[in-house]
Amino acid sequence: MSQYHRIIVAIDLSEDSSAVVERALGIATQSGAELHIVHVIEPLSFAYGGDIPMDFSGIQEEIHQQATQQLQRFAQTNGIDADHQHILLGKPEVEIHAKADELQTELIVVGSHGRYGLALLMGSTANGVLHGANCDVLAVRVGKKK
Ligand code: AMP
Repeated sequence: MSQYHRIIVAIDLSEDSSAVVERALGIATQSGAELHIVHVIEPLSFAYGGDIPMDFSGIQEEIHQQATQQLQRFAQTNGIDADHQHILLGKPEVEIHAKADELQTELIVVGSHGRYGLALLMGSTANGVLHGANCDVLAVRVGKKK
């Protein structure tokens, strides 16, 4: 197996994120790779477009602060340096690809839920990251039923 030098782990800050980060950390430790942690905030304007003439900047700032604190907590628990923590704004798969290209990472680690029916047809962020990635992608199975 080729060695990885730089890895990105993308988390949605849900409770599944610990399992995803632990897996990425295990691989990074084994390979001696640098590990970066990424969370993407989707702008509220994406959801509401121009249909509702509202100023979302206050709420958006609050979401940004909360997400930054939560990402810091995940990173600190797993010994990831502050300069390897990235909060990005946009569409998750697009921003994750852009950061991976910028950092020239060789592996992106994401979580993946087993999906059925309509949810499977609609796809997922993990799917979106896989398609169009310029490097390896590892989907860590999360949310397993016991
Ligand atoms: P989903 O397809 O939305 O169930 O998300 C599956 C995985 O995609 C998560 O475990 C994360 O690895 C990644 N992901 C989803 N949303 C985000 C986000 N906003 N920022 C970073 N990664 C995300």
